[in-house]
Amino acid sequence: MHTHCHRCGGFIASPGGTTYREPSGVTPVAIPHSALCLCDHALIYGSSPKAERERQLRGVHQIRSASRN
Ligand SMILES: [Zn+2]
Repeated sequence: MHTHCHRCGGFIASPGGTTYREPSGVTPVAIPHSALCLCDHALIYGSSPKAERERQLRGVHQIRSASRN
């Protein structure tokens, strides 16, 4: 679970405003520290929990349809 902002390295107190981006090899990820994130929108490189859940549901569906063939 992601709890630290990748822009400033701060701890994300309210994940609701978090922005999720595809991981970038160009932009360095900030080193996590214990202070709170002060960004307007915390930034996390990676899939959002919602997208992750949808991917898992799709994966289950694919396994089911594959076993039917
Ligand atoms: Zn931040």
